[in-house]
Amino acid sequence: MLIDTHAHVNFKAYQEDAKEVLQRALSNGVWVINVGSQIDTSRQAAELAGQFAQGVYAVIGLHPEHTHSQHVDEEETHFKTREEDFSLPAYAELVVHPKVVGIGECGLDYYRLPEDKALHEEIKRKQIEVFRKQIRFAKQYDKALVVHSRPEKGSDELYHDMLRVFEEEKVSEMRFVVHSYTHSPEFLEKFLTLGAYVSFNGIITFDKTGNMKKLVELCPMEKMLLETDCPYLTPAPNRGKRNEPDFVRFVAGKAAEIKQLSQAEIETATFDNAKQLFKI
Ligand SMILES: [Zn+2]
Repeated sequence: MLIDTHAHVNFKAYQEDAKEVLQRALSNGVWVINVGSQIDTSRQAAELAGQFAQGVYAVIGLHPEHTHSQHVDEEETHFKTREEDFSLPAYAELVVHPKVVGIGECGLDYYRLPEDKALHEEIKRKQIEVFRKQIRFAKQYDKALVVHSRPEKGSDELYHDMLRVFEEEKVSEMRFVVHSYTHSPEFLEKFLTLGAYVSFNGIITFDKTGNMKKLVELCPMEKMLLETDCPYLTPAPNRGKRNEPDFVRFVAGKAAEIKQLSQAEIETATFDNAKQLFKI
């Protein structure tokens, strides 16, 4: 058994066949957690989870790119992305859904900030504020926190900001995962010290730098999760195809190779970890 702990079958990329994609995963022994990026895709994640008796769950929240109006992703929503605030009443209505197991994806994204310095700072301030709100919300409802982080190229600033927020909001007292972490071993160790789970995806199957191998080696087995982040980041050998939860087996295969464990050992360990993190 496997769990794709971070999928987006709730996105527009699957508007024709979401149910079939999920059914295919379940038939092959893969459970799925669909993650929202704003209120619309969060609702869709909960709705999809409600269509299955077991094995499909939802995480609801606001992605840092949606806290300002820059972001447009054709794969994601049915309409043009607009700026959104973390609306407590809207998410409070959704969080009581029995299949909602986490809050996110929330966090910080400094990857494509505008040139204008003042605007730059304003966007970061807003992202941090919205991140804090979601951490408190997850605590209040005793849900796992799903954290997104994408730094500006060649800069550690995002991770310094994130660690400060983690410390001030006492994130070490809650269940949380740093998803799709690709930065330096140094910050991975800091997150592990705070009790983080870390999830790896298809990047480990095609990274040529050796950094991902190092990170997988460093992450203790009892803290490791697997994901696809589909429709993005399709793992080898399916590069070029639309990604889907069923492909998490290729991520598991690569993790097994790096950890020098059997595929079955990786599957059992990461499945158990996901069940603990999300209280499934
Ligand atoms: Zn994602």
